[in-house]
Amino acid sequence: MTGNLKEECGIFGVSLKKPSFDLIKELYLGLFALQHRGQESCGIAFKNKDSIELLIRQGLVSANFFKSLPLDLQISTGIGHVRYSTFGASNLVNAQPFVFNCNKGEIAIAHNGNIPNAERLRGELIETGSIFKTTSDSEILIHLLARIQKQNFEESLINSLVQLNGAYSFLLLYKDYLIAIRDKFGFRPLCYGKTNEGIVFASETNALDLVGAKYIAEVEPGEILFCRNGEIEEKFKFAKSDKITQCVFELIYFARPDSTVFGESVHEIRIKMGEKLASECKIKPDIVIPVPDSGNSAALGFSRAAGIPFEFGLIRNHYTGRTFIKPGQDKRIESVRIKLNPVKSIINNRSVAVIDDSLVRGTTASKIVKILKDAGAKEVHMFLSSPGIKHSCFFGIDTPTVEELISAKNTPEEIAKIIGADSVTFIKIENLKSCLKKPDKYCYACFDGNYSIKTNTLKNQTYIKF
Ligand code: AMP
Repeated sequence: MTGNLKEECGIFGVSLKKPSFDLIKELYLGLFALQHRGQESCGIAFKNKDSIELLIRQGLVSANFFKSLPLDLQISTGIGHVRYSTFGASNLVNAQPFVFNCNKGEIAIAHNGNIPNAERLRGELIETGSIFKTTSDSEILIHLLARIQKQNFEESLINSLVQLNGAYSFLLLYKDYLIAIRDKFGFRPLCYGKTNEGIVFASETNALDLVGAKYIAEVEPGEILFCRNGEIEEKFKFAKSDKITQCVFELIYFARPDSTVFGESVHEIRIKMGEKLASECKIKPDIVIPVPDSGNSAALGFSRAAGIPFEFGLIRNHYTGRTFIKPGQDKRIESVRIKLNPVKSIINNRSVAVIDDSLVRGTTASKIVKILKDAGAKEVHMFLSSPGIKHSCFFGIDTPTVEELISAKNTPEEIAKIIGADSVTFIKIENLKSCLKKPDKYCYACFDGNYSIKTNTLKNQTYIKF
């Protein structure tokens, strides 16, 4: 089945100067650090002698994946992937990395992003005889690559990449090479660092920290790097970046606060967002509480700027995983209740400002308001460090259809009524922009509908309700 496979993912790759027992462990640690980017499946692909081996599991990196790792192998190159998808069954067919054997040889691929013109390309490829192994848009790159003849691998790869119009950070394994690629808009992050033994690529810097790699740089939008034996052999721009539109939602919600993404400290930027939100606050609540963990940094900034005490009024059960990172609305409703419990002595008889990063459908917020009111809160005022989400994302963040987005058709006052809160305040988009070092280098399409890729394909995307 074709369709828009909406995936949120994390990718990680290592190239070592010489084969080592450490490579598999590093891949494991890198994925463990990126677990927040996807919890449904995880996998690694690595070059063992002459062929690529693949190990894929459903579920968390720390679960049965660890037990199955071949820690007795000495390996020099590998890539890994954690995945969350809302499309199709959460089965292993679309779990990455993918390994393909084509006329160019064996290739493994790990992808973070979403390619809006994938559906059209896939249709054309199927028409002319391609047989797809998965429903993922990541597979298209390999089909395009295989079609190009009489060109060397590098030329074929670049000529295939330029046909993809969308968001992609890729890590590829080919022969002895680890190849890192970022689309010309720079939608999704990808950075790299160095250890004494080689070079490491990761979606976020927190993964570099865990394996002891010293941050070097981000892969630039439109850049490709070829690494072999722990060194960068070649690095150049394969596409001109006229317009950079990095995903601002990475900073608002998706990335971990201990990461630096797009040159911004995620924690610091969320503190600033909280400060700005406080400047929009027209009431005087007794306490400020975060929705843990997504509202932690912004709540701290809010509390400091407003001079209102910060409290932990909601305690999170850390064994449930991220609420949203579960396909299926029923499971999500259940998860909110299981995940958050109030500290009644803090909440009782208080007017509470609750800080979270975003409202999507409003499911989480309405549960939270109920939990707090049941715990005796006098008033509950919701503050969101993102503007209202009114448009779907086509570039790799899982936002549902416009019909399901609570901000698409309701004012903050109406939303307050729907979720049972005393008020709802979203950060103003200009205030959000004022927090960023380079505000014109971001995509705000989920808030303002200005998509940097203006094609009809965006409107014609098929969505599978979950
Ligand atoms: P909802 O319950 O549908 O309003 O979703 C809002 C909650 O999900 C917030 O608490 C966010 O922290 C979280 N969230 C927002 N966007 C995403 C996303 N794209 N992927 C995963 N979680 C998200």
